[in-house]
Amino acid sequence: MAEQQELGQWVLASNTAVAIFNAEDQLHFASPSFLALYAVQPGPQTFHSIISHCFHHKVGPRITSPLSQWVNTIQAKRRTIPLRTFEIVMLDGRWMWGTEVTFSNQWTMVQIIDFTAIKHKEFALQKAHDEALLAAKTDDLTRLPNRGAIIQRFHQLYDYCSEQNLPLTLAIIDLDHFKSVNDNFGHAVGDAVLHHFATQADQLIRAAGGVIGRSGGEEFLMILPGAPTSCGQDLLETLRIDLQKHPFSTAQSIIYYTFSSGLVSCSQLCSFEDLYKAADKALYTAKIRGRNQDCVSAPVKANTQ
Ligand code: GH3
Ligand code: MG
Ligand code: MG
Repeated sequence: MAEQQELGQWVLASNTAVAIFNAEDQLHFASPSFLALYAVQPGPQTFHSIISHCFHHKVGPRITSPLSQWVNTIQAKRRTIPLRTFEIVMLDGRWMWGTEVTFSNQWTMVQIIDFTAIKHKEFALQKAHDEALLAAKTDDLTRLPNRGAIIQRFHQLYDYCSEQNLPLTLAIIDLDHFKSVNDNFGHAVGDAVLHHFATQADQLIRAAGGVIGRSGGEEFLMILPGAPTSCGQDLLETLRIDLQKHPFSTAQSIIYYTFSSGLVSCSQLCSFEDLYKAADKALYTAKIRGRNQDCVSAPVKANTQ
């Protein structure tokens, strides 16, 4: 008995928020820290009365309204397993870690500690992870999805279009005579032109429900889910007009540049490799025909694999 009293004193001295509720959910014991955390009022209390006071006086944990729904959600979890852990967000921004031990007689002991510092580290790690993931999928120069990311997106959109029985258009876009831009104006200006193209194209293609990524060098891939090649051609024609109206300009010069593209559509099962090959062949034809134009490949037919 003496040891139990001593243990109780240690719990109180530790500043740990501890509370014990009996089987009827009446508060049987609460450490000063728990009383402070939940602004527990004098007199008999239940879990419900404590939470209700917190909600109406805007103290303690962040409780989403309506109150009854919040309480019901929590009550459905309490006493369900012998040992339960959970997070509590406080109105003052602190993060608390709760442990609920339920005994065979349905009494429960709740212990709550402040783990705000750990939670903030978790947030920082999550942010760093998300940023690293985005960086791994983003082309540094143009800020467009890089080759791996745009191919991954193709597979997602392809699966979606197959499920919905929708067409899908793939286009390879290649800037014309880009080597001469570098030769005439320097590599840095060439980089800026690539960025200029990416920004103009991304804005337009995105607004049309499509996506563009940089597949390498001065070559880009456009994917238009749910659209036939004729829509792709219309869109690329609009882009050509845009680039004529708003060419790349520096203090010294205005650089007009063009692109050629090869388009292909898929309305049945076909692989990315087959589509890419067909679009590349069409692009080659567009180049031979004089550049600054599109060429549409015959639709790629079912791959029976
Ligand atoms: P075509 O019309 O046949 O496509 O001619 P082109 O000059 O565009 O094609 P080619 O393949 O001969 O040359 C591509 C050029 O693109 C050469 C390369 O230096 C340039 N290039 C590729 N990537 C970059 C880049 O990141 N920055 C810059 N500034 N230039 C690049
Ligand atoms: Mg080129
Ligand atoms: Mg090229």
